[in-house]
Amino acid sequence: MSDIQLVLNAGSSSLKFAAYSNAQDAPVLKGKVSGIGRAPEFSATGASADALGDMTPATPHDEIVQRVLGWLTTHAEFGEITAVGHRVVHGGTKFSKPVLITDENLAEMTTLEPLAPSHQPHNLGAIRAVRGWKADLPQVACFDTGFHASQPKLSRMFGLPRSLTEQGVIRYGFHGLSYEYIARILPRHLGEAADGRVVVAHLGNGASMCAMTGRRSVATTMGFSALDGLVMGRRCGSIDPGVLIYLQQGLGMTPRQIEQLLYKESGLMGVSGVSNAMQVLQESTAPEAVEAIELFCLRAAQELSRMLPDIGGLDALVFTAGIGENSAAVRAGICAHLKWLGVTLDASKNTAGETHIQASESAVQVCVLPTDEEGVILGHVRDIVE
Ligand code: ADP
Repeated sequence: MSDIQLVLNAGSSSLKFAAYSNAQDAPVLKGKVSGIGRAPEFSATGASADALGDMTPATPHDEIVQRVLGWLTTHAEFGEITAVGHRVVHGGTKFSKPVLITDENLAEMTTLEPLAPSHQPHNLGAIRAVRGWKADLPQVACFDTGFHASQPKLSRMFGLPRSLTEQGVIRYGFHGLSYEYIARILPRHLGEAADGRVVVAHLGNGASMCAMTGRRSVATTMGFSALDGLVMGRRCGSIDPGVLIYLQQGLGMTPRQIEQLLYKESGLMGVSGVSNAMQVLQESTAPEAVEAIELFCLRAAQELSRMLPDIGGLDALVFTAGIGENSAAVRAGICAHLKWLGVTLDASKNTAGETHIQASESAVQVCVLPTDEEGVILGHVRDIVE
């Protein structure tokens, strides 16, 4: 029987998992529970949709983790789970590298929950659920903020009083595990340009961009929180901070209501009133859905342009994650706003889903590369545990 390393990515409304057998890089089993808190749905390789039993909107995240662990142990033919790796969204200023989880560092990660209220509690809840299942199983935390620790100080500072900067009110950036993976594979696809001025666009339900040189993060669009930057599925992206003061003082909203509005009711969902999912919006003829997609593309191009002074221009643009990998229309929509930079797409390569989609005359290479956050976590688990 082989050792199994399990990777868990516990998000605000989903739990993704992948189980890897020793010495193999492809998962032996992969699946997810989506719609947690609304209409939970389970899917996994070779499993029936009801394999976890009945789940309702009230079924808590922790219980869903326990059910997945229980279900995985019924697959004894795959081997025994000997280590677990987790995506943890916020490492603060303390955690820039993956760590083996202890009581002490778990307590420190817990203090960061207010910085990522819709993700961190679920990430840490999954760690606790695994501990409740097998207390002495080695677990590794891999941080989404870690990749951005290489950024120069100025890229991370706000124009706020120095005392707040010193307290950690800075831009942290997220999606670091995805950027780490793309940075690793860039030379395979871009050759020497991989070490040049590259922007990677991670466009999923959460969306951000990272500007790199030498395959290290120099600037990113998400900031202190995962609300900043691009318009996302349900999150607003960058807005004038004066709006927050108005919501509180002018409209009398409580901090909790504002949090709900900005994290859950804004973005593509709030603008379209139709859906948070790009795929659904693309199939809709509602003018608000069309406008939401147009706003998404314009804001993405604006955010990319904002980072160009940090890296001094653009040699390559890489699209990844659910929207970046699958939506030719969004890639075209964003690139249409970047013509002035010399970005030109080859429309047929773009719609055919090729890896290199720039036109021959384009001054900037444009690529579509699937990301693999779970694979990055697996690598860290193997390095740390073994
Ligand atoms: P996350 O991991 O952040 O939950 P994903 O990377 O899975 O998100 O991306 C989800 C997004 O990708 C959704 O907006 C979804 O509608 C979009 N998406 C997935 N497939 C397609 C497609 N074929 N065309 C357009 N959008 C797609």
